[in-house]
Amino acid sequence: MEPRTITLHDCQFSTYMYEEEIIARIHMLAEQLEQDYAGKNPLFLAVLNGSFMFTADLMKRINMPCEISFIRMSSYQDMQSTGNVREVLGLTENIEGRDVVVIEDIVDTGHTVNALLQQLNEKQPASIEIITLLMKPECLQHQLDVKYVAKSIPNDFVVGYGLDYNGLGRNLRDIYKIVS
Ligand code: 5GP
Repeated sequence: MEPRTITLHDCQFSTYMYEEEIIARIHMLAEQLEQDYAGKNPLFLAVLNGSFMFTADLMKRINMPCEISFIRMSSYQDMQSTGNVREVLGLTENIEGRDVVVIEDIVDTGHTVNALLQQLNEKQPASIEIITLLMKPECLQHQLDVKYVAKSIPNDFVVGYGLDYNGLGRNLRDIYKIVS
């Protein structure tokens, strides 16, 4: 297929992963989850905003009893510390004793998922696993065991299928990578 090029703000992006490939990979992950969580009623926690499209397509393909809820990670500069402070927002469920599956759009440095896991683990779930649409293994700065990955990619900035560039691009059905 001829690559398509789009412009968002000041940057050009070209098609990188088409919807068909995304959905095929989601099918495989859904089957794996169904096997791994058979008889368990897992609680899926989707991290907004970026995971909304991935979450919808994944959940439609999971045929077993399960629950789904949505959380956010705040990200603000703490004057007292060097890095960003990330805090879980919107978690209303009691996750004690639950089998939790966190749904992410992309794991880059792993700072976000690492902070999320620390905070969720304090609430004593029975288990926690991560499922992510994309992962950039070259960028990972934490020892994270991300069990379910739709696709590992190089260190390129990508948009589409939920992922944005300064607010634009979340609605695109394919994933694009930056060219200039
Ligand atoms: P991490 O904490 O793992 O470094 O970054 C995770 C967050 O950074 C993602 O949830 C996403 O919002 C953002 N991010 C990282 N890489 C990309 C990328 O290539 N494209 C977009 N649109 N966002 C990214």
